[in-house]
Amino acid sequence: MEKIQAPKGTRDIFGLETILWHRLEKTVRETARDFYFGEIRTPIFEYTDLFARSIGEETDIVQKEMYTFLDRAGRSLTLRPEGTAPVMRAYIEHGYHVSHPRLKWYYMGPMFRYEKPQAGRMRQFHQFGFESIGFLSPGSDAEIISLSWLIYQKLGFRRLTLEINSLGCPECKETYHRTLSDYLHRQHFCPTCRMRADRNPLRVLDCKDPTCREQLLVPDFPTIQQALCPVCRNHQEALFGLLEAVAIPFTVNPLLVRGLDYYLRTAFEIKTKALGAQDAVGGGGRYDNLSNSLGISGIPGVGFAAGMERVVLLLEQQEQASVPGNNPRLYLAPLDLAGEKALLNAAMELNRHSIPVYLDFADKGIKQHLKRAQKMNIGLILIAGELEVRNRRYALKNLMTGKQVPCDLATVIKLCQGATEDDEIT
Ligand code: AMP
Repeated sequence: MEKIQAPKGTRDIFGLETILWHRLEKTVRETARDFYFGEIRTPIFEYTDLFARSIGEETDIVQKEMYTFLDRAGRSLTLRPEGTAPVMRAYIEHGYHVSHPRLKWYYMGPMFRYEKPQAGRMRQFHQFGFESIGFLSPGSDAEIISLSWLIYQKLGFRRLTLEINSLGCPECKETYHRTLSDYLHRQHFCPTCRMRADRNPLRVLDCKDPTCREQLLVPDFPTIQQALCPVCRNHQEALFGLLEAVAIPFTVNPLLVRGLDYYLRTAFEIKTKALGAQDAVGGGGRYDNLSNSLGISGIPGVGFAAGMERVVLLLEQQEQASVPGNNPRLYLAPLDLAGEKALLNAAMELNRHSIPVYLDFADKGIKQHLKRAQKMNIGLILIAGELEVRNRRYALKNLMTGKQVPCDLATVIKLCQGATEDDEIT
């Protein structure tokens, strides 16, 4: 029979790697809490229309990468490829634009894109993201960028770079589109770019074709930075001033666009040199036009999303695989059924006191238990068989000293909570 494997572009996360995931998740949750961003958990699938209308029909995501299917009632559903459109959908659906127009939310969870899998690029991947909805001020752009920067700093990353661009507002975007479209028609871009030249020329900046990319770097390539209107330029200058005030270094990349159409003005990306081709660990920007495509106009917003697999890869490199495990304090070694009953009970009581244990079973003798505890690097063993149960005393063995003493559970708990060194126990 053919072996069943995880689907292409997906992976199992287990073992020591989960400790890094927990560290990342904890840092995100704590930072969000301390900046008063509440959590939102949206469904894994949404009506296809949500993404088609908001992300943009011309984007790679909508054209090639969505996992779209019909449910049994014939509705078109899509596994979420990103988190911002669902967040805006929820904001409008729950009437926040009327009741609490200014809102800060964060999310965390799996996203799905039918991309060509490679190192750092998955079909099921995870993102955490922050969204600030209802704020027009460049201060909220700066807060989002600072928050993402802060999270990376707390995780210990020192060599990340921040690139910023402005995508303009509908007015300057239109002027720029005309200039860009004229330019593109005069050059030799790939067939997809030529097709997009009239309808959505900005997408050309996102093309992965190497010949197209080369042509973007020539000095006379027209950039959006040259076309910004005074309002957009002021917004950008104010943001730069704020970032300088909090000492976050950045460079302006006039070719930076995002893979989603709903961004206006600020767009940014945080990059690393440590992950090879997939160098973006996160990105975001301002999306004041997103709500329009969902039927309510004029709700500004700015947000950020980070690729969690890539962040975990960076953590792995930083730790050089020496991740400290959360080693159990006690190895529980039952010798028979009576011992199993007693130690299962003890395990539950120890857990109520937050003392981590490893519970083994009576399918092995004491020698094997000791060997296993040693292999697992657990210094203390609590042993119980019929005799110990009858005497209402466990045998507590210290593997370092080899000493063994009779002990009731209350004393074990007290010792584990009070003592810092195993030798203090026996
Ligand atoms: P985006 O939603 O495209 O703005 O992406 C935000 C971040 O998510 C990127 O900077 C990446 O770190 C991460 N990301 C996007 N697509 C993938 C993918 N297919 N696999 C892994 N990470 C991804």
